Amino acid sequence: MEQPIEAPIIYENFSLKTFNTFGIDVKARFFTEISNIDQYLAIVREGKFKSIPHLFLGEGSNVLLTKDILALIIKISLMGIELIKENDNCVWLKAGAGVNWDDFVQYTVQHNWSGIENLSLIPGTVGAAPMQNIGAYGVEIKDTFNHLEALNLSTLQLEKFENADCLFGYRESFFKHAGKGNYLITSVCFQLNKKANPKTTYGAIMDVLSQKNITHPSIKELAEAVILIRQSKLPNPKEIGNSGSFFKNPTVSKSEADRLIQSFDGIPHYPIVGSTDVKFPAGWFIEQAGWKGFREGDAGVHSKQALVLVNYGNATGGEIVQLSEKIKKSVLDKFGVQLETEVNII
Ligand SMILES: Cc1cc2nc3c(=O)[nH]c(=O)nc-3n(C[C@H](O)[C@H](O)[C@H](O)COP(=O)(O)OP(=O)(O)OC[C@H]3O[C@@H](n4cnc5c(N)ncnc54)[C@H](O)[C@@H]3O)c2cc1C
Repeated sequence: MEQPIEAPIIYENFSLKTFNTFGIDVKARFFTEISNIDQYLAIVREGKFKSIPHLFLGEGSNVLLTKDILALIIKISLMGIELIKENDNCVWLKAGAGVNWDDFVQYTVQHNWSGIENLSLIPGTVGAAPMQNIGAYGVEIKDTFNHLEALNLSTLQLEKFENADCLFGYRESFFKHAGKGNYLITSVCFQLNKKANPKTTYGAIMDVLSQKNITHPSIKELAEAVILIRQSKLPNPKEIGNSGSFFKNPTVSKSEADRLIQSFDGIPHYPIVGSTDVKFPAGWFIEQAGWKGFREGDAGVHSKQALVLVNYGNATGGEIVQLSEKIKKSVLDKFGVQLETEVNII
């Protein structure tokens, strides 16, 4: 007779310092790690943790932890990459929620499958990628996302979400709003191209390729260009704690954009395809407001990229939040623009 899967070991008062890229030292009341869905179901069946929230954690690269957490934190380590379908033009590739995102991207690059190479080197897991529709260098996962599977935490049934069901937007999805706290994403499937379809319009990519005299980049060359740019611009969380972009780039109406463009000489801005709204780089506002390189105790603003708030060692989550509030206020006072936080503050 088959033995029922046992619940995994549950640790108490567990430090999360090495489980979030900001390196914030708070404790989880309870902590565990699961490598299959049955382990989660076993925890639920046991019933010991039904009175406290269950919070899922990938690699902690998009969270800012501000206090000890009275919850069961569950690190998601559902692994595996599987080719589920292919035809002459495309492959449908599915990965477990716990697979490291960049490992997945490099796997597709090695196989010469095109679609997510511009998203090279983004930290985190495959399962967290749909949460905010991760994006970089002119590409978002919604462009190649096919479907995901998620465990409905009320019914304990697996549900399939097609692209349209996820309500993807700029750093947004159903899972950050109506679906928040109701699902454990277990796997994600992407539809990738067998023929290269390079997205090179982003300025920095064109610069790197032209320095290397590459006019028709292969998928691998494009991934390498993105990696080079990211390594030169963004702080490595292993060296300085951070969560990448702390704020979203503000998107404003055409009339508001006209006001900004007329008032501030040389302000960078980008049209949004299919909309009259205009996007402005949040980093520009923060830099112009004088915050780039600012440091207060161990909380600071990165010296090369003003959009990235950093922990130089022992900053608390509260200190990072306070700094972010000061930045928001000064950008609002100077430009009349309200910055929105991208990182999940817990
Ligand atoms: C240096 C750096 C650069 C970055 N650059 C980019 C970038 O270019 N573009 C971009 O979009 N993002 C970027 N990010 C942000 C981050 O990498 C992504 O948001 C990533 O997808 C987070 O993955 P994670 O596994 O670390 O998620 P976590 O931080 O662990 O979790 C994020 C949220 O998702 C939830 N969650 C995680 N896994 C699951 C699951 N399986 N089911 C249900 N809920 C889940 C968590 O509860 C939490 O609310 C960057 C971060 C850093 C540190």
